[in-house]
Amino acid sequence: MSAENGSGGAVTLIEHLDFVITADDADTVLRDASLVVEGARIADIGPADVVRRRLARQPAVVPDTVTDGRGLGMIPGLIDSHVHLSETLSRAVFPDILSTRAWVFHWAKPFYAHVGEADERVSVLLGVAEMLRSGTTCFLDMGAQNDAGLTARAAASVGIRGIVGRHAADRKPDVIPPGWSPEMVSHHFFPDHTTALEVLEAEVRAWNGYAGGLIRCWVNIEGKEPCSIELHVGARELAASLGVGTTYHLASSIEEARVSEQRYGCWPVTRVARHGGLGDNLVLAHAVALTDDEVGELAAAGTAVAFCPASSLKLGKGATAIGKYPELLTAGVRVGLGTDGVSAAGNLSLHRQVQLVAGLFKDARLDPAQVGARTALRMATIDGARALGWADEIGSLEVGKQADFVLFDLDHHEWTPYADPLQALVWSASPASIAQTWVAGRALYAGGRVAGLDEKSLRAEARERAASIAARAYRDADVPVRTTLYD
Ligand SMILES: [Zn+2]
Repeated sequence: MSAENGSGGAVTLIEHLDFVITADDADTVLRDASLVVEGARIADIGPADVVRRRLARQPAVVPDTVTDGRGLGMIPGLIDSHVHLSETLSRAVFPDILSTRAWVFHWAKPFYAHVGEADERVSVLLGVAEMLRSGTTCFLDMGAQNDAGLTARAAASVGIRGIVGRHAADRKPDVIPPGWSPEMVSHHFFPDHTTALEVLEAEVRAWNGYAGGLIRCWVNIEGKEPCSIELHVGARELAASLGVGTTYHLASSIEEARVSEQRYGCWPVTRVARHGGLGDNLVLAHAVALTDDEVGELAAAGTAVAFCPASSLKLGKGATAIGKYPELLTAGVRVGLGTDGVSAAGNLSLHRQVQLVAGLFKDARLDPAQVGARTALRMATIDGARALGWADEIGSLEVGKQADFVLFDLDHHEWTPYADPLQALVWSASPASIAQTWVAGRALYAGGRVAGLDEKSLRAEARERAASIAARAYRDADVPVRTTLYD
């Protein structure tokens, strides 16, 4: 019975969970734990006997469902702080030898230009299914190719939480490269930053708070070379005036930093800082090419960073060669984790990013005390929530927060045997042992299926659409694998 339970909604008691990693401030890990979900929120959490006693003192609260949690382990839902859901149909399409700029300018952009609205809807649904299957409950999408509302509606139809936006750029290259068409240029570039910001403001007004608050909408732009400095600075200012955030790519490769040095006499973050563009409602994607001073600038401004380890590995961005992610963490910068999308990273598994970041810097710095399992999981949960300005509701499992969590099946070879849940989670487990993924009190992935989606048909349609897009995008067989665009 639910009507008298305060916030309303069905009451579910999951009891005797083998463990709950809460990611609260004290990094509490509960054993033999129980969780009470009331509607979309966590009504109680703690040791099983304590939760039972507290329930007994509230006769008005009678669980509608009681689930035996023995053999299950729980963690907060993972938060993907940088993803391109419009890119899900481009898996393993581009060559494996591309650096960031050739990848973006000569391969990704022509592909995106041919992603129509129906394609993009399939792309988002497919991406959402992969995220839920791998424990991701919230995302920050870089921007729709067509309309933020398309991403918002598709994501909300499944029930995942996320921040959407619309792709925006305003600075065409001086020479239009082979493979780009006039239609593509007009699709990708607004005539100026003012026009871009007007459209982005309308998107925020239309979609921020959609689906009962599950979906937020930000003033996102592409960032770096294809955007003017006015658009970088203006996007953050507009976002602040609308009470939302903004995210864009910046310092995303050493080549970008070198071009910036040549053109403007400084690296990208310094350039934006000099124009007053940093702030605490800004999430920089990648930020791999940073000077020590720029680490300090980001910390002082409260600007957050989304680190995408798999994308860095695949595109040779230099996370371990030049990246200052451990220094950003030490300086107190909010650093979340992102996948970046299926062609940049190969997959949408944030769990894989957790394992990568836990180990990359131990190895690169010859120091096993670097990052590690605890910090890596916090980057994917509570620190990601802080980066997205959503930590009051998500990122950790605490009373009053949204019931966004992942249940692992511990009767799985990945978990057999294990002693420390955190180490086993990060170093041994994978999405293969995920039993359920819940968002806002609802089990969206359970029993091997994403609720409400005909995944088999979706996959069939995705294969057809992906092949068709690639055939249209790369008619010119001689697509460059290196670039001098924007040099
Ligand atoms: Zn990206």
